[in-house]
Amino acid sequence: MASLDVSVRTDDLVQLSTGLLGIPLFLPTAEDDGSVEHPVYQALDAKLDGLIGKLVAEEHWRAKKGSTLLVQTLGRIGPQRVLLVGLGARKDFTSADLRGVGARVVKAAAAAHATSAALVLPIGDGTMERNAQFLTEGAILGSYKFDKYLTGDRKKPEHLKELVLEIADSDGARLDGLRRSAQRGIQVAAAVALARDLINEPAAEMTPRKMAEVAQRVAKQHGLEAKILGPKECEKLGMGMFLGVAQGSDEEPRFIHLTYKPKGKTPAKKKVVLVGKGVTFDSGGLSLKPSAGMEDMKVDMSGAAAVIAAIGLVADLGAPVEVHAIAACTENMPSGKAYKLGDVLKSMNGKTVEINNTDAEGRLTLGDALHYAITELHPDEIFDFATLTGACIVALGPHTAGVMGNDLSLVERWLSAAKLAGEEMWQLPLPERLRDGLKSDVADMRNTGPREGGALTAGLFLKEFVGDTAWVHVDIAGPASADKEWGHVGKGGTGFAVATIAEYLAPREA
Ligand code: MN
Ligand code: ZN
Repeated sequence: MASLDVSVRTDDLVQLSTGLLGIPLFLPTAEDDGSVEHPVYQALDAKLDGLIGKLVAEEHWRAKKGSTLLVQTLGRIGPQRVLLVGLGARKDFTSADLRGVGARVVKAAAAAHATSAALVLPIGDGTMERNAQFLTEGAILGSYKFDKYLTGDRKKPEHLKELVLEIADSDGARLDGLRRSAQRGIQVAAAVALARDLINEPAAEMTPRKMAEVAQRVAKQHGLEAKILGPKECEKLGMGMFLGVAQGSDEEPRFIHLTYKPKGKTPAKKKVVLVGKGVTFDSGGLSLKPSAGMEDMKVDMSGAAAVIAAIGLVADLGAPVEVHAIAACTENMPSGKAYKLGDVLKSMNGKTVEINNTDAEGRLTLGDALHYAITELHPDEIFDFATLTGACIVALGPHTAGVMGNDLSLVERWLSAAKLAGEEMWQLPLPERLRDGLKSDVADMRNTGPREGGALTAGLFLKEFVGDTAWVHVDIAGPASADKEWGHVGKGGTGFAVATIAEYLAPREA
């Protein structure tokens, strides 16, 4: 993957020699008289003596969102195939929908064994540049495959090598801007794909030590500082919760800290820390998960994967902000050394925690990571990303992240970045009254509250470790991985949150 070459050009589309030409179309409105209005569509249809129009009528194709119609041109025009892609009603359209369109076009081209494809940029309005970015992201991510462990016929060769985004002559003045946008799409897609690779890798391979190696590689590639702490250094810092989780495993934990500082003389506008949950395999510990619930638990490091991939991207995009990515990586395993129910762990900030469920390990690792971040770095803003609670999936479904925080304006700014980036997130409250559920008789608190409001008590637990720093907690337990294909998202790790982090820290100009 990522061998797909994306460019922006203006061609005569009737003549263009390509395996497949995709044309995104809006649902006709009443003013359009119910017929498809698009200059490219009309030019091609005329050249084919109305063949496309006939097919559209016979198949009752209506440009509904997500629908496609494939037309074979049998050598009568340059493109071997024309793929009409429905965008739905213009009023419901957002640029992020185009990721699904890019994915559909490359999948159709790949299915036809085409080596090249072209795609008409939806007709210009203020968002044309953004559209070019999202089409590119969707095309690259739509062709993402984790096929490293497949053998024989299932490891299919990639046919599609080239995708051209076609713009009209009249938009020629925007060519440079559109090329920069496509380039941004390529960069975002590469970072999302990296996060997906790390998540999809089996836990036996993607151990905490391996995560640290990857982080060092990312640091080298993107000019970041890398600091990796082993168990001894973490012990010196007093990370009793993180090490408590780690003690049951034969794999050594690693605490990862990457730093990006903007180049040039202008001082960084602010300092932002991104903390990612990095439990490389979560068996539940002695509060062992049932087999079905454990099957997917290599994904429990998706937050760490997202922040490691995102900080490299943010550096590439030249964000004007100092950024730190932190991940306390460990397995959560049962063994003779494992932490036990009833144990009391001492956190780095001095608070003691009684363990009443060893499967609520994420918040323990995050609590120490958050405290490290606020005391060592004094950030202006801190975010954490974690596959934290099943309760969040129960509340919001599998596609939407739960967003909580102690600073409403920061939560709102984060949510608007998510909206622009096309990632589904929704705010949840942190009701103070639920804090009672974390009361312990033997320690300052315990690590889980009652079932009801489980996503919120997890958030309240984390809140104990951020002090007064403006903080946003993003529970990605649902959207971090997918069990079916959807748009530009395949089965497995999704790389969720990377796109929003880029949108938030390195927004596009205009
Ligand atoms: Mn767990
Ligand atoms: Zn977990």
